[in-house]
Amino acid sequence: MLEQITRQNLIHAGKANNVYATNSPDYLELEASDRISAGNGAKTDVVTNKGVANNQISSATFKFLEENGIPTHYVCEGSNKSSKIVKAAEMIPLEVICRFVATGSFCKRYECEDGLEFDEPFVEFTFKSDSAGDPPIDRKTILALPEKTLIEDERELNLIEYYTARIGILLSEFYERLGVKLIDFKVEFGRISSGQIILCDEISPDTCRLVDIKTGEKLDKDRFREDLGDVSKGYEEILKRVTSNG
Ligand code: UDP
Repeated sequence: MLEQITRQNLIHAGKANNVYATNSPDYLELEASDRISAGNGAKTDVVTNKGVANNQISSATFKFLEENGIPTHYVCEGSNKSSKIVKAAEMIPLEVICRFVATGSFCKRYECEDGLEFDEPFVEFTFKSDSAGDPPIDRKTILALPEKTLIEDERELNLIEYYTARIGILLSEFYERLGVKLIDFKVEFGRISSGQIILCDEISPDTCRLVDIKTGEKLDKDRFREDLGDVSKGYEEILKRVTSNG
């Protein structure tokens, strides 16, 4: 049946990904582009082959998570090397962040030392809204605004928090085997027509901080954020290690 899924019109062009309808209302085709942005679109550029690398990395990651008990939207490869077929889901407008080491916005917000290690995966939420600037949101506020956050009850919020911490543990072990330390990452969830909440969006060097364990070199979007040079090296290096693993 899946061979019969064909790409149709573009329905959404995001900052880094394009979403296409398919001939089935239950599936979408998600295409990773070479566009890169930081600071809520304040800084933009194009990185050759980033779309292919991110799609391959994210697809391998989602397959690994699915095999380890995390329900995801991943279905199969798409019509080209930078795209995949996914289950259509209503996106929950929360960015769920998991940290192992404090850095980035966390350190800016709380004026804490960069490099502080957490004993357990540290999960926090931001409300996904470009116009509001993706502000931090706490559990109480998420539950007080179900029409905005699309979280119906505490059980759903607990599930998302549990999945994110579990993804963190699975992914940090996955990357450690590849000689890479996972510093932090962001995930997004959606709800499919049955009501089930599943992992959606992407997990790639655009949404994770990844550091080479031996050299300490950054292999993620921080190379672009911090003007460290050779931005594509991070994507290519992570792709090489992830694909040689499987
Ligand atoms: N992140 C993301 N999208 C966002 C914000 C953060 O993918 O809109 C990722 C980011 O790449 C990092 C983690 O979430 O791996 C934590 O980011 P942080 O909150 O420190 O924000 P930043 O410093 O990136 O603004």
